[in-house]
Amino acid sequence: MNRPVRVRFAPSPTGPLHIGGVRTALYNYLFARRHGGTMILRIEDTDSQRFVPGAENYIIESLKWCGIEIDEGVGVGGPHAPYRQSERRDIYLKYARQLVDAGWAYYAFDTPAELEELRKQAEERGETFAYNYKVRTQLPTSLTLTAAEVAERIAAGDQWVIRFKMPENETVQMHDLIRGHVEVNTSTLDDKVLYKSADALPTYHLANIVDDRLMEVSHVIRGEEWLPSLPLHYLLYRAFGWSDVQPEFAHLPLLLKPTGGGKLSKRDGDKMGFPVFPLFWKSPATGETARGYREDGYFPEAFINMLALLGWNPGTEQEIFSMQELIDGFSLDRVSKSGARFQPEKAKWFNAQYMHRKSDAELAAVCQPLLREHGIETSDTLAGRAAGIMKERATLIGDLWDLTSYFFQAPAEYDEKQARKYWKGNNPQHLRELRQVLEGIDDFSLENTERVVHAWIENNGYSMGQIMNTLRLALVGAGKGPGMYDVTAFIGKEETLRRIDALLANLTPQE
Ligand code: GLU
Repeated sequence: MNRPVRVRFAPSPTGPLHIGGVRTALYNYLFARRHGGTMILRIEDTDSQRFVPGAENYIIESLKWCGIEIDEGVGVGGPHAPYRQSERRDIYLKYARQLVDAGWAYYAFDTPAELEELRKQAEERGETFAYNYKVRTQLPTSLTLTAAEVAERIAAGDQWVIRFKMPENETVQMHDLIRGHVEVNTSTLDDKVLYKSADALPTYHLANIVDDRLMEVSHVIRGEEWLPSLPLHYLLYRAFGWSDVQPEFAHLPLLLKPTGGGKLSKRDGDKMGFPVFPLFWKSPATGETARGYREDGYFPEAFINMLALLGWNPGTEQEIFSMQELIDGFSLDRVSKSGARFQPEKAKWFNAQYMHRKSDAELAAVCQPLLREHGIETSDTLAGRAAGIMKERATLIGDLWDLTSYFFQAPAEYDEKQARKYWKGNNPQHLRELRQVLEGIDDFSLENTERVVHAWIENNGYSMGQIMNTLRLALVGAGKGPGMYDVTAFIGKEETLRRIDALLANLTPQE
């Protein structure tokens, strides 16, 4: 069927958004953009037990950070507002009743004690209990009570639920855009609750189907964990008479642990030291925190690029994709059926690739906050230049502080090992001579300083290693850091001489 592409990301605000959820949002977004369609954000918050304050904001902020734009939905509005299911509660009862009237659903009045009794009996027979066609005839429901009794119970304020009346022994034929043909016999399925009088709210299944229809969703792209619900969803569309306008479905493969077995969890991240959430999260209830890619120093583009390739295969060797390239290349038939193993090292690799490709101006934007945090005020030009010099050695944004600090700060102390090794013998004297050489240089550019100093070293028959390491001790105070001529050119003659003088004045040579 040819109809406008309308997809939705429909998270439940039950906690921070897992990166698997971000990938679902991303694939929906890529699909929408690829087909000139609409991306909807719907918040499925009908499970009041699992509602977590702050989770919705977290989801919205995460999508923003990732560059996943919402066309319609919570926070944006649109023709089908409201997009938060708790604000649509009045809509659903009518639809649940419609199913009861059509014989596709029924009222159930059973109490927890009655259910428990049947569960026990089933266990005694060695069966696993399921609320299904066998059980529903043994409980007080609108299938076993008279219409008058049902009306009486409802009027008396008895609690009830509406359950789907799962047909017995029917094979549901389904199509998934990633998995192809799928079929399931309904005798393996139970009678799911669709609506609860206790909180006057629908369950996920009812609200999801009704809203997808009302919002004219054309494609449902969601995680594999929803595949078992697909037969029920097909039957719900049929029960409503919507089969010919129901969305197409695509169930995305799981994100697997780095070791392969099982779904990637927060525990894996904690154990192996990587985030499984896009942003830092603090639980309002327990105060428990979880790290995020943003705070760990990843670029959103790198994060997205990495996620896009976890389950989607572009069919070429290309690994680096801008969002636009992902949009242009994305198709559901290149999404794999099998789970995608998450590799934390690969996430870092992607970030490094993006780091190396950044312009000085882009680097300045991420480096300035780090410098400021350490009390350093400098221009964007200088921050960007310093970061640009060092970017090849950086993986995460935070690395830029370690790498660039030498350009902005004279050593506060001297690394002991480096001092023991080089601050002795002729080196202090040679450093004094080098100071004079440097003082005499007018063109303090990297190339010129290097040329003059090297000539001086050679003419005197000095050791390059000894001289350069002694200079390194003076300029950065450590055995690591940027190239020496990068430093001299960056900090200039005056500061170079000042740092040399400080070493000569403050550190007694070793014997
Ligand atoms: N609210 C469901 C979730 O949290 C949505 C599943 C679907 O997309 O149908 O994943």
